[in-house]
Amino acid sequence: MPCYRLIPSTSQDELYANQLSGLRWTIDHIIKGSDFYRARLAEAGVSSGRDIRSLDDLHRLPVTTTSDLREGYPYPLLSVPLTDVVRLHASSGTTGKRKVMAYTQNDVNTFSLQMARCFELAGLTPEDKVQIAVGYGLWTAGIGFQLGCEKLGCMSIPIGPGNIEMHLQFLTDVGSTCLGSTASMALLLSEEVERNNLADKIKLKKIIFGAEPHDAKMRRNFERKLGLEDSFDIAGMTEMFGPGSALDCPHHTGLHYWADLFIIEVLNPETLEPVPAGETGEMVVTTLTKEASPLLRYRTGDLSRLIPGVCSCGLQMPRHDKILGRSDDMIIFRGVNIYPGQISDVLQTFPETAGEYNMQLWRDDNGRDSMLLKVERSPQADKGNDANLAKAILRTMQQRVMVSPQVEIVDPGQLPRFMGKAKRVEDKRF
Ligand code: ADP
Ligand code: ZN
Repeated sequence: MPCYRLIPSTSQDELYANQLSGLRWTIDHIIKGSDFYRARLAEAGVSSGRDIRSLDDLHRLPVTTTSDLREGYPYPLLSVPLTDVVRLHASSGTTGKRKVMAYTQNDVNTFSLQMARCFELAGLTPEDKVQIAVGYGLWTAGIGFQLGCEKLGCMSIPIGPGNIEMHLQFLTDVGSTCLGSTASMALLLSEEVERNNLADKIKLKKIIFGAEPHDAKMRRNFERKLGLEDSFDIAGMTEMFGPGSALDCPHHTGLHYWADLFIIEVLNPETLEPVPAGETGEMVVTTLTKEASPLLRYRTGDLSRLIPGVCSCGLQMPRHDKILGRSDDMIIFRGVNIYPGQISDVLQTFPETAGEYNMQLWRDDNGRDSMLLKVERSPQADKGNDANLAKAILRTMQQRVMVSPQVEIVDPGQLPRFMGKAKRVEDKRF
């Protein structure tokens, strides 16, 4: 295992002890600082951190939900005096609910630490030049990447999303070695680099991509087009400071999360009981050091699974799998529950497709729902085979997802590209 400067090399026992003391501290802190949490915990019979004997007691504590965040707007879960707050951030509001979170100076420091640890795990050093292609402003993304660069000592080039011309210019003129972006933006940029014949004029080695689910084809596509050494999936959300709560290490067998900062449980979203080890469920997060807006068993809505065992890279930090999507991304179509990730999974099995798709849903005057699935042909595939390909995709959709969409194959590059989080499903029924 490489020798890290910012990633602690703690043993499992030390981590457990750390989590227990962090949980006790958090309980005391929120009982003191938040009327909301104090009342919730009193209902559960908890009046002090000392009531927590072991981490198993976590399961007795109440969960917190996104509707609890709305209640305290614009300072939900606030557990410190407002004068201790040095910053507000808000989520981009993908699912319609903008979540505002407050930060103390210690919170900002922890945010930069978690990002810098991710960079360290990805093998970045002060030699690296990181071109940032995620949003600046209220969002945590841009500023998070920048904090991480400054903490580790990398050069940051804070361009933000969009602005392809400027990205291409800095990739060539500055020779940026790492890009921070969404997977969608990485794909878009790789296509532009190819189109402009810039591949041998740039020095990009790594991409750290996150903020949305990605699929393996898309990733291979931009890795190949840009001639990357490696790419890394980074997880995070505004509620967990921002990006950088976890990163997949160079062994790519799951994302290590910072277990000295967070406890992550995976629960069955219906029963709120833990799922069997290694199974998929909803990630529920408890923060261990967060001061301004701490999370107690916060239901993220994100679906993933914990990966049992220790990673072959040797790092003791536990891992979760890539985030498959959110429970509220689920579409109900003619009584069948569908997650966008399932469509990606089906398309992964067809080498003739590039993985990009667009799904449209609409309802006719008789109340009957229809689905159109547009799929991009891969540049290597034969157009003459479109009808057969569409039939084969339909059959697999019927078998695996239990729906029968109209399937249309389109030319490479025909479907929309995105500079931020992709929107591949257009539900026009409501
Ligand atoms: P929102 O998108 O709700 O406005 P944020 O901007 O805070 O909020 O984004 C956080 C959300 O983005 C996460 O809850 C998760 O659904 C998604 N996300 C973040 N990173 C990843 C990733 N690496 N893979 C998949 N989804 C991700
Ligand atoms: Zn690892």
